[in-house]
Amino acid sequence: MMPTYEYECDKCKCRFDRFQYMNDPPLEKCPDCGGHLRRLISGGGGLIFRGSGFYATDYRSSEYKKKAAEDKKSPAPAKAPVAD
Ligand SMILES: [Zn+2]
Repeated sequence: MMPTYEYECDKCKCRFDRFQYMNDPPLEKCPDCGGHLRRLISGGGGLIFRGSGFYATDYRSSEYKKKAAEDKKSPAPAKAPVAD
């Protein structure tokens, strides 16, 4: 199986996929502008782990916002500490 590597250029922000074997040396320079490339890992299933972690953060925060909105809609009974 030939893994697909996704690259993103730090300089011009272009992105492209490249088939490479695991032990192939990673590309380092953008073919367009010569800028520094970052290798993203693409699993081909739509889930991309980005070095920046933006996706994970966005997902978590949107989930959090959704939950917060739901809490507002149907507020749970106040969790008052049970005092004697
Ligand atoms: Zn570039």
